Order: sequence, then structure tokens, then C-alpha cells
Amino acid sequence: MSQYHPETQAIIGGRPDRAPGAAVNGGIQLSSTFYVGGENNYGRYNNETWQDLEAVLGKLENGQALIYASGLAAVTAALDLIPGGGKFVIPTASYLGTGALIAELEKKGRVKPIWVDITKTDEVIAALDGAQMLYFESPTNPLLDVAEVQKFIDAARMRKILVVVDNTFATPLNQKPLDMGADVVIHSLTKAISGHSDILLGTAITKSADLYEKLLVHRKFHGSIAGPFEAWLALRGVRTFPLRLRQASESAAILVERLKKDPAISRVRYPGFGFMISIEFHGGAVAADKALAAAKIWSNATSLGGVESLWERRRLHPEEPDTVPESLIRMSVGCEHVEDLWSDLAQALLSSGK
Ligand SMILES: *Cc1c(COP(=O)(O)O)cnc(C)c1O
Repeated sequence: MSQYHPETQAIIGGRPDRAPGAAVNGGIQLSSTFYVGGENNYGRYNNETWQDLEAVLGKLENGQALIYASGLAAVTAALDLIPGGGKFVIPTASYLGTGALIAELEKKGRVKPIWVDITKTDEVIAALDGAQMLYFESPTNPLLDVAEVQKFIDAARMRKILVVVDNTFATPLNQKPLDMGADVVIHSLTKAISGHSDILLGTAITKSADLYEKLLVHRKFHGSIAGPFEAWLALRGVRTFPLRLRQASESAAILVERLKKDPAISRVRYPGFGFMISIEFHGGAVAADKALAAAKIWSNATSLGGVESLWERRRLHPEEPDTVPESLIRMSVGCEHVEDLWSDLAQALLSSGK
């Protein structure tokens, strides 16, 4: 099936065989146990609904996918690929939940992170010597910096270091890290791939049979498994993921041009693709908070990638580092009509100066 476009892969994958009378859409497998002698055995090991979703995800990233209870559960599984106390390189500009998890593990002596600035390519590469893993995201959250992904992957491979890329912000439609040589790709499926802000789920995807086996063993015995209903909702969501992404990205590009001209805004950050934008205000955090309060379509809430447009001031999260400007609002553009999104933004930005 790999000759098809992602729009098609997202729709045709993970369905029952085309037998006369068979269902076109798979069901939700809720049974925790299965008769002896078949492929399925126990619900913590395997589940048909998971497999339907995994089939689609694997096609989108060109690898074999495993789903987990959340994005962070997938991150945990990936970190478990290196030995306890293992040294790994990670940028300070990482998802704040990932950063908080790693800080926790470090306190217990489970990992040794080496924190780097992802925008300083030479610094990142120099830090790789003696490390066991390079873990990064690009574009970064919430500054939306774009890393030199191919250079990092090549430098890590030369040193035989595992490369794990969190591809949640880029999505497989804009960047395929496994094809660039990365070992494992992580997604928070909670975001654009499921796309409706109504479930939490994650995935780890790899081309390596050996890593797949290790990730599978982690899931089986750490128990970070997805509920079948969540898996089914994500499968329903992924069918429209390419369409939603195209709409949201098209709208984002239009909004970026208008935001750049808005007198309330001092800086617009946009990686040049995708649905995420970050803005800063001449009037500081006070102006940003006024804008957030004045919006009627944009919802002041965290998370991203849903059909509904969300925005939030990031420094309200106590874990957000002070490298993130006080007034920075991160925007996740949804699928509402772009002119409605703009008129709501325009009036909210106007109230921010009052
Ligand atoms: C949300 C997010 C995660 C964590 O995913 P959860 O599903 O919330 O556990 C990890 N990485 C990135 C980039 C995210 O945006």
C-alpha cells in the first residue's frame, strides 16, 4: 500500500478484509481475554482495535507502530531503550511534560540528561560523544524553532547513538524522521492525528524489528496500554488528519501574514509550515491576557492540533522556562473558517491595547 498518498493511506488502512458481508469499519474490541491458540491471548498484550490504528500510523511514518496510553507513556517507553543511568542528549526546548518527566527520573538517578540548545547545531553535536541517545523535537514548543534535523540524525548515527524524534508538531505529512535515519518516532496522538481534543493517546514507531520488540515488551509489562475505545476514536480521527492538517496549515499561513502587520503584535513565530503560531505583544503579558479574555472563537486552553482553535499564554505554566517570553501566546489553528478566525483575532488584539 505504500505507493499511495498519505490522504489515501489514512483512509484505507486498518480495516477488515474485503470479504462479502464483512464490516467496512472495524469494531471496538473490548474483550480482555481470547481463546487459546490464536494470535490474541490477553488484552494487555494485544488488541485488534489497537492494531487497526497501528496499521495506519505505521503507513504514515513508514515504520511499525505501537500505541500507548498517552504521548508521555510513549516517551517513557522510548527512554527505556537505554540502560538505567544512561546518558542522553535533549534540548531544553522540549515539551514541558517530557522535561518534567526527565527531571523526575534524573532525581532518582535513572537517567543522565545533557541539556542543549537545539538552535546551536555544533553544541548539540559536540554533546553527543559518549551519549546513548539523542532525543529531540522540531519545530520546538513553544518557540517554533526549526532544528537541523538531518545533521543531528547523521551525527548521531555516525556515533551509533539512538535517535528518537518527537514528531508531534511537524506531523508525518511535513517530516518523516524514520526515512531520514532516526530510530524511533514519537507522537502524542492526543494532538493533530486524532484531532478532536477528546482523547489522550501516544505512539512509538520504528523500522527496526529489534527496537519494536523492546518497545512492545515495555508496553506489555509496564502496562501503559491504550483503552480500545480511545484507539477507535483515534482511528476515526486519523481518517481526516491530512484534510484537517491541510486546512489548518492554509489558514495558519494567512493568519501569520495578517498578524505580522497587527500593531499589537511585536513578534510572530512560524516555522513556515504547519498549524502552530506563537505571537508576542508590545503590551507584554497584560496585553496578551486581555486578548485571551476578549476572544469568542479562540479558546483559552492548552493543547493543540484539534479542529477547534486554541491559544494560551505559555508562561502561565509554572514549568515553562524563562527563555519563553512572558507575553508569548501559542496558537493552535483549527478548522473554523479563516475569516471568522481572523475577525475574532482582530477584535481581541484591538481590545488588548485598552
Ligand atoms: C502533548 C505532547 C506530548 C505529551 O503527550 P500526552 O498525550 O499529553 O501525554 C509530548 N510531546 C509533545 C510535542 C506534545 O505536544
